[in-house]
Amino acid sequence: MSKAIHIALSILVALIGVGVASATEKVSELLTRGAEIEAVRVHPSIWLASGNSNAYLVETKDGVVLIDTGIVSQAGKTHEALSERAGNRPLRTLVFTHAHEDHVSGAAPWLAESPVIIAHRDFPLRQQYFAMLAEYKARRAGVLWAGVMSEADAQIPVPSITPNVLVDDLHVFEVGGLRFEVHATPGAEGPDAVSVWIPEWKVLFAGDALGPTRAAFPNLFTLRGENLRESIPLLDSIERMQALGAELLLPGHFEPLAGGAEIQSTLQRTSDAVRYVHDETIAGMNAGKDVWTLMREVTLPPELALSEEYGRVAWGVRAIYELHTGWFRYESTTELFEVPARAVYPELARLAGGAAAVAASAIARVEAGDALEALHLAEVALAADPGSRPALQAQLDALEILARQDAGANFQVAGWLRHRIGAVKARLGAID
Ligand SMILES: [Zn+2]
Repeated sequence: MSKAIHIALSILVALIGVGVASATEKVSELLTRGAEIEAVRVHPSIWLASGNSNAYLVETKDGVVLIDTGIVSQAGKTHEALSERAGNRPLRTLVFTHAHEDHVSGAAPWLAESPVIIAHRDFPLRQQYFAMLAEYKARRAGVLWAGVMSEADAQIPVPSITPNVLVDDLHVFEVGGLRFEVHATPGAEGPDAVSVWIPEWKVLFAGDALGPTRAAFPNLFTLRGENLRESIPLLDSIERMQALGAELLLPGHFEPLAGGAEIQSTLQRTSDAVRYVHDETIAGMNAGKDVWTLMREVTLPPELALSEEYGRVAWGVRAIYELHTGWFRYESTTELFEVPARAVYPELARLAGGAAAVAASAIARVEAGDALEALHLAEVALAADPGSRPALQAQLDALEILARQDAGANFQVAGWLRHRIGAVKARLGAID
């Protein structure tokens, strides 16, 4: 096959793949899911209640097992839908796939039934971590997700959950003669992830081990502010899930994925994409390339293309780089000290002829389509004169160019730009 035909086919395959994933699973949509919640049978003995996140009820000969509980604003509806299916059978065991609030904050109605609670060894630490930074995180998440997150969930109360069983690597239990294996699968959404495997049925509850959507590049850094996520444990987790040979994969959000071949190829593609970005970033670091160069240079080959609606490849590159480098990039001595470049912006603006002169350069950059350079220049002008109308206008125009270029392709970029555009418009309005 000629190289050109091969590339064309690869692009076609990539476009079809991305099209399917983005048409069916978007993080922007999951935050508004759940107006109605019904229990849906996804296996002869498994019920799914799907709202913002998924909660699963497994029937056995002796009671039921629950995997995750959904988000607090949907706790009542989720509990009602699934407990109706449980009937008078007792809840024996509750497994939390990880400590994120969208999976655990709906726990209250179930805790009253005193089930055995199983979670990863790091689950309590993660709960403490989220509680410690609750105000910081709520403020940042509110900025990014304003308009797509419910009031109740924005004020997430951290439920007090004390697991009875903490899983280091593997925990096996039986309910009603059915074997459950809880495997540690850290990675895409943090270090405290577990997946639940029922060997007899070849069913795998994956939680968010691949992220909130499948066929998507994982979010190795989340803009709302959470520790960097490591790609090597994620790759190990995917390999571990592949080795199980699932015929039905039940994720933490959206619809089940059926069929061994389909599941394997989804896992393989995510793994290949993450491994590619990891290896290219590490190779670039060893070759002495800086993070900005690598963010530009490392892109997925067409055959590995994944949706970047949540995680982004360039952010993955930076997450991997900074995981190893930290904040001292060897670019400037000033990095070691507490005076940032912006401290001299007013002086630079004065030397350039004042805020208006710098704003004129920013406007010229906007007109040339260089939105990021325009934003840098507008920030220099605004440091000298925070009320400079031309500088604010250049900033607004640059932000709008970025919003048009991204066109909602990335949910977090869209949220951030919406917030910034609103703030700059408000400042312009205040000047009028
Ligand atoms: Zn989730």
